[in-house]
Order: sequence, then C-alpha cells, then structure tokens
Amino acid sequence: MTEPVLAIEGLRKAFGAVVATDNVSLTVQPGELHALIGPNGAGKSTLITQICGELAPNAGRIVFAGRDITALPAYARARLGLGRSFQLTQLCPEFSARDNVMLSIEAKGGGSFNMFANPRRNTRLRDAAQDWLDRVGLTGKEDRAVMTLGHGEQRQLEIAVALARDPQLLLLDEPMAGMGPEESAALTRLLSELKGRYAILLVEHDMDAVFTLADRVSVLVYGRVIFTGTVAEVRAHPDVRAAYLGGDAPC
Ligand code: ADP
Ligand code: MG
Repeated sequence: MTEPVLAIEGLRKAFGAVVATDNVSLTVQPGELHALIGPNGAGKSTLITQICGELAPNAGRIVFAGRDITALPAYARARLGLGRSFQLTQLCPEFSARDNVMLSIEAKGGGSFNMFANPRRNTRLRDAAQDWLDRVGLTGKEDRAVMTLGHGEQRQLEIAVALARDPQLLLLDEPMAGMGPEESAALTRLLSELKGRYAILLVEHDMDAVFTLADRVSVLVYGRVIFTGTVAEVRAHPDVRAAYLGGDAPC
C-alpha cells in the first residue's frame, strides 16, 4: 500500500466532560477524496482544527507526508502543504478575486512577498492566478472585489486561493453550507475534477455530494469513527444507518 498523505493515529481531544475526538484513527491516501460525515456535534470540525494545527490534541499523532506534525504550529503545517479552506476565511474582502489568488501564490514561497514590487505588473503571476480562477469557474469575475461576490463564488475563490499554494492535502469543512442547489452542483463538479490530483478530506452534510465524490467515507458519532468504507459499504452498513443516516434523512 502506498504511504498515506495523512495518517491520524489514536487522536483524542476532550473539552471538560465532552470527548470531541475519541481515539480517532484514519488515513487519506494520495489522490483520495475521503469524506467525513456525522451528526452535528460529532466532532468533525474539532478533528479538522487539530489536523490544521489550530487546536492541540490531548493524545495521539498526526502524520503528514510521512512526518509527525503533531507539535507543529498551523503556519508550519501550511508551509508543508496542508491546505485549508472554509471556516478560516483568509480572503481580503476589498481586494479583487485575482489579487487574492496572486497574494496566495506569492505567499507560497514562505512569505517572501515583496512590498516594493507591484505584483499587479507581474504578468507571469497574473497569468498563473488567472489559471486558478478559470479552473474554479470564476472566469469573468477576476476584477470583482471579494465582498461583491456571491456566497458560492467566495467558496470557489477560497478553493483557488488554497490550490494556489500547491497543497498536498485539502481540508474542506462544509464547503456547501449555505449554498443553493446550483452552487452545490457546481462545487461538486469542481471537486470531482480536483480529486485524483489532490488528496482531499471533506466534511460535508450534503449526502448527494458525499456519495457522488467520496472514495471512502468515515462516519463519526460522539467523537468516534464508527465505520470507514466505500460509499456502497457505508450506505449498506446497518450501524451507520441506525446511528446516522436514519433511513434516508441526511442528518
Ligand atoms: P461538528 O463539527 O461535528 O458539528 P464539533 O467538532 O464542532 O462538531 O463539536 C464536537 C463537540 O465538541 C460538541 O459537543 C461541541 O459542543 C464541543 N466543542 C467544540 N469546540 C469546543 C470548544 N472550543 N470548547 C468546548 N466545547 C467544544
Ligand atoms: Mg462543524
């Protein structure tokens, strides 16, 4: 078996009496889209924040690209290629979509942003930013200030900003929250294009999206992974249906 991009081993995080992460182990393989589902309060976001380094676990290990990153701060993990989008929006609202992507490309090298050079005159940088904007479906919106973009467009831009840093793993925490059906369908299409090329850990309530996109699904209930398997296995698993899917209800 190939070495996983991400391996979480025996992770635990308690908030007082609430064990939000209870001995969680899971892996994300290169190019895999691994979905993490579970009811509200199951500990999905808590897991994501520990992976990206905003929250320290009480026990366990997080291994990224073969390296133990459990003790590394968030910025060092980002530099190693851990890309996070959503619920940590780092877009500059007054800047254009293109400027945001250009800043992200510039930041990739480790914050070597040169204040005295005008990046808007750098055509290579501009073209590279345009490429990412085209790939996420923002062609024609390049010059719009972020705050004038729609909700779904901002999510698309966040993905462009994350990808512009050339991540090895993308962490997405409910990217479809607040989106209408058309926006969700567009984002599902984008993620299906990206999977295979990027390892993606996707937390999502939209079961249509999860069942369309996921290579594997892990089900988290009360902080514990109760099952990991393919979409077909997860759909058929009686414990998963009882504990989470509740028949056809998504959550
Ligand atoms: P999910 O994202 O699956 O909805 P969360 O990870 O947000 O779940 O929360 C898991 C549990 O941990 C919940 O019971 C929540 O109330 C609790 N929790 C999350 N963050 C904190 C915190 N900073 N302080 C105390 N309790 C928290
Ligand atoms: Mg959450």
